[in-house]
Amino acid sequence: MDASLRQDIEDKVAHGERLTYDDGVALYECDDLMWLGSLAHAVRTRLNGDRVMFNVNRHLNLTNVCVASCAYCSFQRKPGEKDAYTMRVEEAVRLASAMVGEGLTELHVVNGLHPTLPWRYYPRVLRELKAALPGVALKCFTATEIHFFEKLSGLPASEVLDELIDAGLESLTGGGAEIFDWEIRQQIVDHDTHWEDWSRIHRLAHSKGLRTPATMLYGHIEQPRHRVDHVLRLRELQDETGGFAVFIPLRYQHDRDGDPRNTLQSRTTMATGAEALKTFAVSRLLFDNVPHVKNFWVMHGLSTAQLSLSFGADDLDGSVVEYKITHDADRFGTPSTMTRDDLCELIRDAGFTPVERNTRYEVIRTYDGPVPLAERRAEPQPVWA
Ligand code: SF4
Repeated sequence: MDASLRQDIEDKVAHGERLTYDDGVALYECDDLMWLGSLAHAVRTRLNGDRVMFNVNRHLNLTNVCVASCAYCSFQRKPGEKDAYTMRVEEAVRLASAMVGEGLTELHVVNGLHPTLPWRYYPRVLRELKAALPGVALKCFTATEIHFFEKLSGLPASEVLDELIDAGLESLTGGGAEIFDWEIRQQIVDHDTHWEDWSRIHRLAHSKGLRTPATMLYGHIEQPRHRVDHVLRLRELQDETGGFAVFIPLRYQHDRDGDPRNTLQSRTTMATGAEALKTFAVSRLLFDNVPHVKNFWVMHGLSTAQLSLSFGADDLDGSVVEYKITHDADRFGTPSTMTRDDLCELIRDAGFTPVERNTRYEVIRTYDGPVPLAERRAEPQPVWA
């Protein structure tokens, strides 16, 4: 990057001025990782101080049966496949109830697009879950699922959302976004929920008082310019609604055992750690009106997750178990669950103060901050994968 553009971007960041599409592309072309990190860290510190938020959550997938075959997805099964499953309502409640304990505050529920389950199943599951776990926030369904429910029920999204909210829905999930640019999207997404419907449904959710996450699946066949375009579309929608609580870059995952359902594997590799840090930094700089940037550590590994906290991220999700949509986490040497103590230690070890939050990003508890490195070196330290 030439010196004058570099100075121009530094000045904009220092004065809180908005970066352009061309700035975003130029930032991705820059290999001075520490410079990118220092700019993003300044913004992250201005917005969130030295806090790193986390929550105590669990993931539940009601069914892996899906009519779509998205190219990156090894979770989906077709009806009748031997390991296809669909939970009865009672089974979902029993499994979720077994997850309570250790101060669970959020249940994250996403599912395949099941061709024959009736629409009534979904509000019923929510009602039963809410009755069994009244203190747990239900963060459920991607915009893709809501769009699918419209077709299933014959109801407009507004009525679908009203019924789900009445049944206990507190937030949508941020999935289904992947990469919005059609040049890429048509090669990786195998359903008909694209930017127009994804943004329509989140806009509607925001108008009903829900705050939602937004995601981006990166590190596959897209180019950096597609990531810039993706974030700027979300930034524009955020200008309009202010309803996005957090932005979550998700790193595309290979399956180590070569699951044939993940057809992207023959065309691409995963983003490196450096590319991941750059993506966090540029996202933080471009998406200037979203309060938080989250690292879903299951997709990045714990060491990269720690480093990302100095590259724009200020939120770690979470004490997850059983994350299945894109990979089996254990095969990457990354644990499939972290306790509250593990998360606090991970955050402190990276030099930040852990803050437990709820689904609405309200503070539940602030924990002790980091101990200076010189003091910690006297003790054996945990090694994070
Ligand atoms: S990503 Fe979702 S919609 Fe696409 S195939 Fe997988 S489960 Fe189905």
